[in-house]
Formats: sequence, structure tokens, C-alpha cells
Amino acid sequence: MPFAHDTAVSLQTAAALANSALAPDTLTTVEDLDDFYAQWEYTGRRDGTRAELDDVRALRPRLRALLTADRDTAVELVNAMLRDGEALPQLVRHDTWDWHLHAVSPDAPLVTRICVETAMAMIDVIRGDEMNRLGICADEDCEGIVVDLSRNRSKRFCSVACGNRNAVAAYRARQSSLTTS
Ligand SMILES: [Zn+2]
Ligand SMILES: [Zn+2]
Repeated sequence: MPFAHDTAVSLQTAAALANSALAPDTLTTVEDLDDFYAQWEYTGRRDGTRAELDDVRALRPRLRALLTADRDTAVELVNAMLRDGEALPQLVRHDTWDWHLHAVSPDAPLVTRICVETAMAMIDVIRGDEMNRLGICADEDCEGIVVDLSRNRSKRFCSVACGNRNAVAAYRARQSSLTTS
């Protein structure tokens, strides 16, 4: 793993959230946000309101812009996010998590925490010059963001569904070239 655990999780979470905006939108109800919160093992403040959902939904274009930016642009976006969130890095240990960074209080709104956590993760990506870990899905029709944490940098698809669809298409192409030749 090229990054610390919390950085890796934050990047994957941000990509999943940004990708949820692709059609069909998979974050449209408070229950969808419940699932997102549980799946990515969030802790801390949760309002469970429509306003909170709307705030998180509205953050998605900003996350996409950050995760698909060039390195210098990403720096500007990260610094703005850290300023806006009034980030103050602190090492914390809670639940099953060993020492890791939090930069905003667990009482801060969920959208602020997601925003600042993503920015904190991107600090590592930018400093380590690892921007090429972030890319767009190799599926022709998919704009999903891919976070490649693999040792050999081999991840090309944003999801298992996209990977499978392309494997099937490649198989069919091989089969038809065998029968027509
Ligand atoms: Zn934590
Ligand atoms: Zn995809």
C-alpha cells in the first residue's frame, strides 16, 4: 500500500462519493447516506437530515474536480478546502483505528469532515508525487474515478461491474475474431 491506511480509505471514500453522482445517482435519499456512512465506517456527528444529504451531494463536484485535477491545481483546491474547514491536524485513536489524523472535530458537520479528510489525504498524494494513482475508468462509457492503490499500478476500472463488462467484451471480441478468421 503506497499510503497510510487512513489516507487510502479517505481517497477511496472520496472517489466512491464522487462516483455516486454518475447516472444513475446512487445518493438521493437520507437512507443512501446512512449506507454510505456505514460502509465507509464513519464515526462522529450525523444529522440524518435532508439538509445534511444536500450538503454532501453538493460536495461531490468539488471532490471530482480535486481527484481529477493536475498536481498544481490540486494544491490550490486542497489549500482552499483546509482553509474553509479550519483544519487543525491532531493524532487520534478511537474504535478499532490505531493512531491516525483527524483535522476537524467529530462534532463538525459530516460534509466538512469529508471535505477536510479528502484534502488531508491529498496532501500525501501531492507530496509523494503520486497523482497518477488517480485516474478515470478505462471503460469507454464510464467517467468513474479510479483510485489505484495496487503495488503494480494495475487497476484500470472504477468498479467490479466495469471490469467484468470489459472482460466479457474482450472475450467476445476474441471469440468473434476466431470464428471469422
Ligand atoms: Zn478516525
Ligand atoms: Zn467504470
